[in-house]
Parts: sequence; C-alpha cells; structure tokens
Amino acid sequence: MHFDILTLFPSMFQGPLEESILKRAQESGRLSITLHNIRDYASDKHHITDDAPYGGGGGMVMKPEPIFAAVEAIVGQDTSVPRILVSPQGRLFSQAIASELAHFPSLLLICGRYEGVDERVRQHLVTDEISIGDYVLTGGELAAMVVLDAVTRLLPGVLGDPGAVLHDSHAQGLLEGPHYTRPADFRGWRVPEVLLSGDHAAIARWRREQALRRTRERRPDLLDGLQLSLQDRDFLAQLEMESSGMDDERGD
Ligand code: SAM
Repeated sequence: MHFDILTLFPSMFQGPLEESILKRAQESGRLSITLHNIRDYASDKHHITDDAPYGGGGGMVMKPEPIFAAVEAIVGQDTSVPRILVSPQGRLFSQAIASELAHFPSLLLICGRYEGVDERVRQHLVTDEISIGDYVLTGGELAAMVVLDAVTRLLPGVLGDPGAVLHDSHAQGLLEGPHYTRPADFRGWRVPEVLLSGDHAAIARWRREQALRRTRERRPDLLDGLQLSLQDRDFLAQLEMESSGMDDERGD
C-alpha cells in the first residue's frame, strides 16, 4: 500500500517511520510512503503557504493554490485515490474506518496547520475528512501518523501473527481481555490457572468471557447492537445478576 502525505513539516515523520513495524513494513515492500512538502508547490519566490483570514481574526489560513498544485501533481485526475484531509471536523476515526481504508492500494493524506486550510480545499479537492478525536492538535501530522499506523498494521503480512488483529479491541466490537506472560507468579499475583492448563477450548472461552466482562465494565455502549451468541448473552446475564446481587448487599 502506498501513502502520499502532504505536510509543511515532513521531518516530523522521521522517528515513527524509522522504527519497529512501520519500518519493517517498508523494508518488506508492503508499505511505501512519500512525504511531500507543501511549500515545494508554492509558486511565489518566498514559497508562502499561508495568509491572513478574510474577514479578520487571529491566526493564519493555509492557502489553496499550493495544496491543489501538490495533489494535482501527485495523483493527477485519478479519482480512485482517496484524498483525505485530517481535521477535527472530520468523521471520527475508528477501527472500522481503518479496515475500510486498508482496502485501497493508495491513500493521500493532507495535514493542516494554523487555523486550518482554505475552505475550497475541503469543498473541491478532498474526498474525505478524518478526525482522530474530539480535541484540537496544533497540526495534522500526528493525526496522519495515527491513521497510517492503524491502517498499516491491518495490511496482510505486516504483523507476525496474522490472527492477532482479529482479537484486538474494536476489531469485532469488543475490547480485548487481559494478557499475561512469564512469570506465572509475580509478587504473589498469579496468572489465572486456566491459561496454564493447556486446554485450548477452555482458554478460548475464558478469553471471550474476559472480553465481554471488560467491555461491559468499560464500554457498555459497544455492546448495544452487537451480534452475540446465546452463550455470550448467558454470560452477560450472569454478570448482570452478580452485580445486582452486590448492589442488594450494599443496600443500593
Ligand atoms: N481551527 C480549526 C478548527 O477549529 O476546526 C483547527 C485547526 S488545527 C489548530 C490545525 C490542523 O491540525 C487542522 O487543520 C488539522 O489538519 C489538524 N488537526 C487538529 N486536530 C485534529 C484532530 N482532532 N484530528 C485530525 N486532525 C486534526
């Protein structure tokens, strides 16, 4: 998969792209990234990419011409490549959106700065806007890295264990349950016995129940509308009874 990333600060990407899974994905040819400095596409002699907002007010706005010139030089008239503006006003990024994006052979990400980009970029150039959360960052570079990272780990062959992503939190609507590794006893805190039993069916059931329990405790909203088996629903009903029993004991 190929990413074209438009930014005023290409060097911000150096660290994350040169480590661990993102580095290995590039070395194996599963991922390629081209960083484009928007400043290189400004046609005036000072390579100006921002200007004061019409109507007054503080802050600067990114000019449309360099961004249009960059996108047109990179993808031309190819409408098959999603042109994504990262923006706090976009659709909220999620594992489902990461999976959707992982199906494209190529993506183009535009990183805003200052007060954001001229509205005509949003209206006439981009095909999608993605927010990584309900807060405002100083620029789109960190948001673009989040999208790049979440999409890349879904690409075939990028993770050592291809099944791992299936059990990740949010992959199938649940949070993942707890993980343990050696030692089996750390400061008197023991690993649950079932994990040491070698009984794969029992371990799979325990993991499923832990995922259900954790999701119910931390993100009950995720359970709404989720397709659950009879066994899952029985387990959740049992948890419900346990907690109402505890409420009764407390006199709530
Ligand atoms: N004035 C803008 C607003 O209120 O919507 C915020 C501009 S922000 C300071 C500068 C740039 O950072 C944005 O153009 C966008 O590219 C990026 N950015 C900030 N917060 C973001 C978020 N939550 N998700 C994605 N991109 C974000």
